[in-house]
Amino acid sequence: MLDKLASALRNTFDKIAGAIFIDKKTIESVVRELQRALLEADVNVQLVMQLSEKLRKAAADEKIKGVEKREHMIKLLHDELLNIAGKEKQEINLAKKKQTKIMLIGLYGSGKTTTAAKLGNYYTKRGFKSALLGLDVHRPAAPEQLEQLAEKANLSCFIDKQEKNALKIWEKYRKELQDFELLVIDTAGRHDLDSELVGEIKKLNKEIKPDYVILVIAADIGQAAKKQAAEFKKACGISGVIITRMDSTAKAGGALTACAETGANVLFISTGEKINDIEPFNPETFISRLLGMGDLQSLIEKVKLATGSEIQKNAEKRLKEGTFTLVDFYEQLKSMQNLGPLDKVMELIPGLGKAKEKIPENLLGTQEEKMKKWKYAIDSMTIHEKESPEILEKQTSRMQRIAKGAGITTSDVRSLIKQYKMIKEFGKGGMPDDLSQGFSQKQIQKLAKKFGRKMRI
Ligand code: GDP
Ligand code: MG
Repeated sequence: MLDKLASALRNTFDKIAGAIFIDKKTIESVVRELQRALLEADVNVQLVMQLSEKLRKAAADEKIKGVEKREHMIKLLHDELLNIAGKEKQEINLAKKKQTKIMLIGLYGSGKTTTAAKLGNYYTKRGFKSALLGLDVHRPAAPEQLEQLAEKANLSCFIDKQEKNALKIWEKYRKELQDFELLVIDTAGRHDLDSELVGEIKKLNKEIKPDYVILVIAADIGQAAKKQAAEFKKACGISGVIITRMDSTAKAGGALTACAETGANVLFISTGEKINDIEPFNPETFISRLLGMGDLQSLIEKVKLATGSEIQKNAEKRLKEGTFTLVDFYEQLKSMQNLGPLDKVMELIPGLGKAKEKIPENLLGTQEEKMKKWKYAIDSMTIHEKESPEILEKQTSRMQRIAKGAGITTSDVRSLIKQYKMIKEFGKGGMPDDLSQGFSQKQIQKLAKKFGRKMRI
C-alpha cells in the first residue's frame, strides 16, 4: 500500500536525521524528493507546496540548531503529513444489546458489497451479533454476490432475489433483523450521482434511519474523491467515508487527503479483496507507518485476537505439558494466519516494513502453499505419527510413504517436522505469560531498539 510514497518518505526522514548540517543544499534535495513522491501519490499541489515552504522555513530558522533542528524538522514533517491525512481518528460506535445500522452508499464498483461483508466480519469478530441486508435491487447479480460473501465468512445475510423494491425488502425483514446488534446495509450504485440515486438514498434514509450513512469510494479516483465526497455530502448527508482499493493504486494519497480536505472523515480503509483486508483508519498510526515507525497498536490488536483464541490457549497448554502434537501445531499455524498474510503483518512491525523490500516476493507468497502441503502430509499420517512425529526422522520409509500419499516431496515432510520441533523446543518451559496478551511493553521496547527506531506507544 503506497509503497513508493512510503519508501520516499523514509528516505526523506533518514536524510534529515542523518545530516550533520541541514544546509540549503540538503533541504532543497529533501524537499524535491518529497514533492515528487507526494505528487506521484496524487496529493494536491497546493498542499505539497505549503508543506515544502514550511520545511524550508524551519530549515532556515537560525534560532534552532544542530540535533534540535533535525528533531524539529522531523516532527514538523510528521505533524504536517498528519494534518493533511485527517488529524483525528473517527470511529463507529457500537453498543451491546442495542442496534446500530450502517448503510453503505456509493457509485458502481466502488466496493460497497465487498465492504459490507468485511464490516460484518470485522464486528462479528469483536463480539457483535451482525447481519447483512442486501438492498441493491438494480444489479441482477448483487444479492448473490452478497450471499456468497456472507456464506464464506459465516455471516447472517438477508436478501430477496425477486423483489425489485428496496423498501419492500426492508419491510419484509425488519422484525427479524431486530435481533442483531449490527446491521450492515448494502445499496445500489449508479455510474454517476444522478437524481435517481439521490432520490433512492433519501427514501432509504427516511424509512430505515441508519445511524451511519457511509460513502464508499475507490482509491483509484485519487483527488477526484474530493468532488465526490462533497457532492454526496451535500445531496445525501454522510457520516463518513470508507476508501477501498488502497492496495491497487499509487493515487491513494490523493483520495485520502481529498477526504480530509472536505471534512469527510475516513472511517476505514480497505487494502485487498479478502475478507480481513479492512482496518479502521487512524491518521496518526497511518502516517507513523508510512514513515516507517510501525503501527504497533494495530499489530498488538491483531496478535491479541489470534493468541486469545481457544486454539492458541490449547496449544500453549499442551506445549507446557509436553503433549503438543503435529495436529496442534497445524491448528496453531492456521490461527496465526488470521493475522493476515505474512507480508501485511510485516508492514506493521517497525523496521520490518523496510526489510520487506529486501525479501523476495516469492518467499512471502510460499507461506500458504507450504501450509497446504503440510496439511496433506498430516492427513497422510497415522495417529501415532501425528502424536510423535519424531519417529519419522529415523524411518525414511515412513517419510516416503507420507510424501507419496500427500503428493509432496520428502523434503516438504522434513521441513514440517523441523518447524514443529522448533516450536516444541521453544515452548518447553511454557510460553512467557505475557505472550497471551500480545507483546509486553518490554518486548516492544526491545523490538524497537533492535530495529533502531524511536517509538511512541
Ligand atoms: P460495489 O459495486 O460498490 O458493490 O463494488 P463491489 O463490492 O462489487 O467491488 C467491486 C470490485 O472491487 C470487486 O471485484 C471487489 O473484489 C473489488 N474490491 C473491493 N474492495 C477492494 C480492495 O480493497 N482492494 C482490491 N484490490 N479490490 C477490491
Ligand atoms: Mg454491489
